[in-house]
Amino acid sequence: MSAASIAWTIAVLETLLAAAALLVLCLRRDRDRAELARTDPLTGLGNRRALAESADPVLAAGRGAGLLLLDLDGFKDVNDTLGHTAGDDVLVQVARLLSATVGGRGRVTRLGGDEFAVLVADPAGAQELEVLAKRLLAALAVGGFHAGTVPLDLSGSIGIALAGQDGRDLGQLLQRADVAMYAAKRARCGVLRYDAATDPHSAGGLELLGQLRQAMEDDQLVLHYQPKVSGDGARLLGFEALVRWEHPRRGLLLPAEFLPHVERTHLIHALTRWTMITALRQAATWRAQGLCTSMAVNVSAVSLDEGLLGVVEEALALARWKPQDLVLEITETAVIADPAGARRTVARLRERGVRVAVDDFGAGSTSLGHLRGLAVHELKIDRQFVAELAAHPEDEVIVSTVIALAHRLGLVVVAEGVETVAAADRLCALGCDELQGYFFARPLPAGAALAWARSEGLAQPAVVELA
Ligand code: C2E
Ligand code: CA
Ligand code: CA
Repeated sequence: MSAASIAWTIAVLETLLAAAALLVLCLRRDRDRAELARTDPLTGLGNRRALAESADPVLAAGRGAGLLLLDLDGFKDVNDTLGHTAGDDVLVQVARLLSATVGGRGRVTRLGGDEFAVLVADPAGAQELEVLAKRLLAALAVGGFHAGTVPLDLSGSIGIALAGQDGRDLGQLLQRADVAMYAAKRARCGVLRYDAATDPHSAGGLELLGQLRQAMEDDQLVLHYQPKVSGDGARLLGFEALVRWEHPRRGLLLPAEFLPHVERTHLIHALTRWTMITALRQAATWRAQGLCTSMAVNVSAVSLDEGLLGVVEEALALARWKPQDLVLEITETAVIADPAGARRTVARLRERGVRVAVDDFGAGSTSLGHLRGLAVHELKIDRQFVAELAAHPEDEVIVSTVIALAHRLGLVVVAEGVETVAAADRLCALGCDELQGYFFARPLPAGAALAWARSEGLAQPAVVELA
């Protein structure tokens, strides 16, 4: 080969190599661009598109799949108080923790904000998904998160949807996991599987409402009663009535499964009236049997209006019950929704001698400031601060501060969700007036509640004092 043809061959090879390099570069850039389009820039997790790319082939092939939708509780407060940069930093920590916990069992993606999804292909069943969901929440609970130098406690709520049973395509699964997640958030129970019967958008939810009308007439609604004891646990002070539905086909339904639907209709007023009358009648019966306590009834935000006073009068008269021995538990949300209206109604209840408690205190965004001008008697500290009081020093700071402030405002402080002897002891030491929780007793049917009080030696000899 001549020198000229060698030079020519080299030139051609060089050109070919340069073209190949260019081609590789373009391909790589396309791949990078595609990768970028399916990556969440903040956390490096996949995004909604990545979720679709993983889910669609699995669902199209008719394989089993489960979707977990996780939303952090109260994350807005983190952003609002500590700023978005700190919030973003926390989301990165959460993303890492979720990925590490899920491991090879599923794919974690971030859908936006503080919402994450986990796709699990071929799950053994709903139970495997529930176990995984609980594992994720447990990991969050011990997460050791920091926003800058501020240590942060996080919790979340997870909704579960199972392909085939709860939805066919990804859109449907996401929507249903979302419904379940909101139900879990409302019920503050951490994890819930989608349930068509309680989905307000589904025919099942409407059917449930239709059945409820009949249920009230057929005595399918029952009240369970949970005791409140003195701070030292030695005295029974009262019971709280909690509604349940003994559904003929679905078994015992908890309030979280039907109450949110009822609250959207005028049926809630009938339910409030039924609960008030039934609870006071039960209390009067117990009194005649030697169990003298007060009775607390929960009142939904929508029922906290002028009409409530008439219902209270009627129930007091029917049971010949003294207003001082009736406690109405209203939530913070009711107070925030209509502060002026709440103040008016509470003032009239107080004039009538009825006691009013603010329930779930600390769960929403109320501060003690909202209580100004609201003539309540009691503050029930939300169970999220009580549950792990002994393990979390920050919770103890919050609880002791609330107790001190409430006492200065002349309010009785009740701690709910007391599950352990350690929490009960700490609360007693902090000066909490009343305790309530599984550690003492779960909500019990009337007969079992009386038996519990008697076995604990808490049923007093009858001092029948009628109104
Ligand atoms: P709530 O008034 O905050 O009632 C306390 C809830 O916590 C009850 O759930 C009770 O069973 C549960 N609980 C009690 N002790 C513990 C504990 O130690 N640990 C844990 N983890 N949980 C505990 P339930 O019965 O499912 O009621 C949920 C909510 O439904 C109630 O929350 C109340 O807001 C509402 N509700 C219940 N009955 C009625 C009613 O008759 N009318 C209205 N309007 N609302 C009601
Ligand atoms: Ca309550
Ligand atoms: Ca509560």
